Amino acid sequence: MKVELRNITKVFPGRSKKQNEEVVAVDNCSITIPDGKLIGLLGPSGCGKSTTLYMICGLQKPTKGQIFFGEDDVTELAPENRGVGLVFQNYALYPHLTVKQNILFPLQNLKGEDRPSKEEMLKRAYETAKLVQISELMDRKPSELSGGQQQRVAIARALVKMPRVLLLDEPLSNLDARLRLQTREEIRRIQRETKITTVFVTHDQDEAMSISDYIVVMKQGVVQQIGKPQEVYDDPDNLFVAKFLGTPPINVFSGHIKDNTVFIGGEGVLRTKSAPDGEVYIGVRPEGFILNDSGALGCELSRIEVMGRDMSIISKNDASVNETIRSIINSDIKADPGAKTVRFDIKPHKLFLFDKESEKRIRFEVE
Ligand code: ADP
Ligand code: MG
Repeated sequence: MKVELRNITKVFPGRSKKQNEEVVAVDNCSITIPDGKLIGLLGPSGCGKSTTLYMICGLQKPTKGQIFFGEDDVTELAPENRGVGLVFQNYALYPHLTVKQNILFPLQNLKGEDRPSKEEMLKRAYETAKLVQISELMDRKPSELSGGQQQRVAIARALVKMPRVLLLDEPLSNLDARLRLQTREEIRRIQRETKITTVFVTHDQDEAMSISDYIVVMKQGVVQQIGKPQEVYDDPDNLFVAKFLGTPPINVFSGHIKDNTVFIGGEGVLRTKSAPDGEVYIGVRPEGFILNDSGALGCELSRIEVMGRDMSIISKNDASVNETIRSIINSDIKADPGAKTVRFDIKPHKLFLFDKESEKRIRFEVE
């Protein structure tokens, strides 16, 4: 089922006299979620991710704009009539019911002709349990399950109604690091097998990048960029997106362009064909540095951390916006840990220019 948000805005009114400022939680958002795909809705806490999700499922009503499922305008449709499955961060299982009863619950709540027979309900509950690999846990209570198992039950409960759209709101936040990795692979597998159009909300860029077909990056209620994870990483539209994606994060320098040369401090690091003169931010991905004794950019060496295949060279430069610069270099390359300075060349496709005022990307051609 294709899902389309058309110019969606959500304004929350001020709650009291003291706190009477309205909040624009989502601001004129247009997002198209192709049928059968998994979309990662990504952004810092408070940027409007949950509000967007709740409008898709109908728990919140947009102040402006329309929501379509396929060709149907569902903007006014009640949540229970939308055919959506919702999973929250805190699994919200019924503690007094067994796993099986928890999974059956949404089916037993169906009314009229939508309500399957008892046998059909059980069949679907067991099939769904198998899909999320909890078949052997059906008679346990939630308190007898690990966090990861509880989250699988919550996912099974959302899937058992065979929703047209699956919505996951930070579903992995309560799990420890290892389980988080494992469960996100599971979610990806389940989504691939069921081909349910899925929106996965997270503030964790690594999580979103690793499982999404497309990511939507949001900031303060406004969509910043939509695209395939690698495309957005390689071609960010603005400084916020460039900074939000990538671990270690992008290195940002304050610099300028003069006569088609990009300068960091007094050093010309790149010749371009087409960039206009002026002050800029220069972003360089950690993997964008090449060690070279006669390289264009000199930095004060702080330390070198070798991590198997790669090493991190931590250095300083007066033009760096962050305290330190982190570059990732293949550890086959020799570097002198006792040196005072390191010199780098910069890979042109790993260097991004941003307007100092608007922080929008300035695209350029390399000479
Ligand atoms: P996220 O999920 O990205 O962390 P939310 O969608 O929960 O962000 O919130 C977006 C903004 O809207 C925040 O500033 C939040 O305080 C505000 N907000 C969310 N829900 C309500 C509400 N029911 N009433 C008033 N303000 C709200
Ligand atoms: Mg949220």
